[in-house]
Amino acid sequence: MIIVMEVGAESHEIEAVIARVEALGYMSHPIRGVLRTVIGAVGDERGKAELQAMEAMSGVERVVPILRPYKLASRAFKDEPSTVSVGDVRIGGLQIVVIAGPCAVESRELLMEAAGVVKSAGAHCLRGGAFKPRSSPYTFQGMGEEGLQILAEARQVMGLPIVTEVMTESQIEMVARYADVLQVGARNVQNFSLLKELGKVNKPILLKRGMSTTIKEYLMSAEYILSEGNDQIILCERGIRTFETSTRNTLDLNAVPVLKEETHLPVLVDPSHGTGHSQLVPAMAKAAVAAGADGLLIEVHPRPEEAYSDGAQSLKPTAFALLMSELKSFAQAAGRHL
Ligand code: PEP
Ligand code: MN
Repeated sequence: MIIVMEVGAESHEIEAVIARVEALGYMSHPIRGVLRTVIGAVGDERGKAELQAMEAMSGVERVVPILRPYKLASRAFKDEPSTVSVGDVRIGGLQIVVIAGPCAVESRELLMEAAGVVKSAGAHCLRGGAFKPRSSPYTFQGMGEEGLQILAEARQVMGLPIVTEVMTESQIEMVARYADVLQVGARNVQNFSLLKELGKVNKPILLKRGMSTTIKEYLMSAEYILSEGNDQIILCERGIRTFETSTRNTLDLNAVPVLKEETHLPVLVDPSHGTGHSQLVPAMAKAAVAAGADGLLIEVHPRPEEAYSDGAQSLKPTAFALLMSELKSFAQAAGRHL
C-alpha cells in the first residue's frame, strides 16, 4: 500500500502515519518529495483493511494499493527516476555512465594497465572480478581478497570507483570494505538469502539479470534488496538464454524500455556478456543507448588473447577508445551525454 500525504502535511502527521504503519507490523518506506510525502507500507498484506482505514488519519490524502507484485521497485511507488551515486558519478541522470575493465583481476600489473586504459578513454568506473563464478571448478576462480586490494589500489591511483562481484553472504563484509559497488552476477539473481543480506548494506548494488529470469522475476529480486532497506540498486540487462547459438546470449534490449516503464531504478546494459563477441559489442552498446539505457558495462582487456576469462568478448584498448568517442553522438541523439 502507498499512503499519500496531503500537500503541506505537518511533520507530526507524517510521523504519526509512520508509527501506525509500523505498529501494524509493516515496514515503512517514506519518500519525501518536493511537494508531498508518500509512505510505502510493505509487508504481509493480510491486514490491509487496517492500512486502508488510515485514510481517516489527519494529513492523509489517500491510501492506494500497489497492484504490481514488486512494490518498492514499482513506478506506482515512485514515479520519478531514481539515481544512484557512486563517488562523484551519478547513475540514472542525464549522463550515460560507462563501467569498464577486465572480466577478472588477473594480476596487479594487468589491472593497473587496464585501469589506465579505461580511464584515459573516459570510463567513469572500473570493473574487475576478484571472485569469479566460473562454469568449471577447474578454471581460474579469481584472486579473492588480494584482487580486492589491487582494485582498491587502482581506485586510489586512478580516482575511479570500483565495481566488483560478491558471490556469497560470507563475502559481503569483505567485498563491501573494498568496493564502491557490489555486483550480483546473473547466476545469483535469485539467491534470496544473499539479496536479503545485501539489503542491509549501505553500498550500491549492481544487480544483473539472470540468464533465464523474466523481467517480473528480476524486479522481485530487486524488491528483496529494497525491502530490507537498501534502495541503491542499479539494474543491468546482460543477455538471456535462447535457442540462438551465434551469440553467447541474446541481449534483450526489449528489457530496457520495459524496465523503464515498470521501475524507477536505473538500467544498464552489458553488451559484452550479452553477445560474447568483441566485434558485436560496439553495435549493441550504441543500440542500448538508443533504447534508453542509463549506462553500459563493458569488458576491456589490454591483451584479450591472454585473458583468463571472457577474452573473446573483451575489447582491446583501441577499440574501446573508439567506441567511447563514437558513443558521444549516440548519447547526444538520445538527449544524454557521456
Ligand atoms: C561478469 O560481469 O564478469 C559476469 C560474470 O557477468 P554475469 O554474471 O552477467 O555472467
Ligand atoms: Mn566476464
